[in-house]
Amino acid sequence: CGIVGILGRSPVADQLVDSLKRLEYRGYDSAGIATLEGTHLARRRSEGKLRNLAARLRAEPLAGRVGIGHTRWATHGKPTENNAHPHATERVAVVHNGIIENFRELREELQKKGAVFKTETDTETVLHLVDGYLAAGINPVEAVKATLSRLRGAFALGFIFAADDNILIGARNGPPLAIGYGDGEMYLGSDAIALGPFTDTISYLEDGDWAVLTREGATVYDHRSAVVQRDVVKQSAST
Ligand code: GLU
Repeated sequence: CGIVGILGRSPVADQLVDSLKRLEYRGYDSAGIATLEGTHLARRRSEGKLRNLAARLRAEPLAGRVGIGHTRWATHGKPTENNAHPHATERVAVVHNGIIENFRELREELQKKGAVFKTETDTETVLHLVDGYLAAGINPVEAVKATLSRLRGAFALGFIFAADDNILIGARNGPPLAIGYGDGEMYLGSDAIALGPFTDTISYLEDGDWAVLTREGATVYDHRSAVVQRDVVKQSAST
């Protein structure tokens, strides 16, 4: 149960896996990453240890410069490759820590509208909510904002989008989530340890916050979607 996201200037797959390794201490049963390959969201996922994911990536590398990664501690749905995060449609990919408490109602509503669910996870409701808004022509920022207003429960979320290679969105309501500031690169991670190899310049989201990252910086919104400033601190990964 860890999250990482990178808006990089060079391929990010290796960095995503390195970062997930630093989150192993939190426990997990499966893992995965997604990167944006041109306009295609490509994924590699694996049951069990991160070395399985690393082996999968050696056989079938990912070259994207924007990506998200996840270690899963299954709460809804077995710890299979198919239930492993990231979850994705052709428009959006998502990673999630925590539990979406109203997932049953949301799934029923989304299925009535024609969404086809492919996993047993609570997380997939988040995916189809965002995807539905994007399909209706709503932009990524507004699509995530509208989605967050529908969710009950504890979550940290990370999103990347097929249509834009310079946006990474994170949201926090419970599990921790930090923003990392790099040199023309930006990061999202469950904690400063995850981001240690990349940057020591960190900002922690507060509960209800969500953040829109581009390579130029971050805009943080609170639970009412008002723009807020959160302290940026220097924090070495060893502390
Ligand atoms: N509830 C989600 C799932 O079971 C996320 C679990 C986690 O925090 O890793 O897939």
